Amino acid sequence: MSDSYRIEREHMVENQLKKRGIRNSRLLEAFRKVPRHQFLPRNLRGKAYTDGPSPIGEGQTISQPYMTAIMTQSAEVVPGDRVLEIGTGSGYQSAILAELGAEVYTIERIPELLEQARETLRQLHYDKVHTRMGNGTLGWEEEAPFDIILITAGAPEIPGPLLEQLAIRGRLVIPLEEGYSQVLYVVRRSQKGFHQERGERCTFVPLIGEYGWKKDPRTR
Ligand code: SAH
Repeated sequence: MSDSYRIEREHMVENQLKKRGIRNSRLLEAFRKVPRHQFLPRNLRGKAYTDGPSPIGEGQTISQPYMTAIMTQSAEVVPGDRVLEIGTGSGYQSAILAELGAEVYTIERIPELLEQARETLRQLHYDKVHTRMGNGTLGWEEEAPFDIILITAGAPEIPGPLLEQLAIRGRLVIPLEEGYSQVLYVVRRSQKGFHQERGERCTFVPLIGEYGWKKDPRTR
């Protein structure tokens, strides 16, 4: 069984990532290595390597593999980077970052999801992932500054506290609401200030909290 997942994972890397232009070999190697199926609820593992997001419970999703790859590529991770992730979800993105040699700090607001993600990361021995329950739009002040901040949920605007916790030469990657979907933005910080680049369209579940959506915009 584990072998058939390995083959499916190789297909994912070839057809979903390489064919769409993901070239960085360290990044591709991380996607070959992390067992994505283990981050999904048992009954959905058979579909772990399909080309889309999958439900992980509590109305949340694990992002499409290609989206995880684009976010990671945009962040330009180098070993030793301190990374803050907002929205742990399944823990899969954290595992990819850890494979790339990052020290990962990840925050999730839904206790049930965080519990499950912690268990999965523990079983797979991702010791360089530190987790915390709470509202990630406030960041993780005690551990700041961060070389990279990844927000894996769609936001109405960039949360101010996260900009403050970004190191000089740091990169912040965030899906921002634009019309009916979102656009991925990369913000770079230099001595002179912040510089913002617009990337591709994407769809993430909403970032909820003080500096995000005040309540889930999908419910009324
Ligand atoms: N990175 C995840 C996918 C995350 S889905 C993975 O690889 O599986 C987005 C997650 O962000 C959801 O689990 C949601 O509960 C969480 N979230 C939304 N708003 C948040 C906030 N303010 N702080 C922390 N987590 C938040």
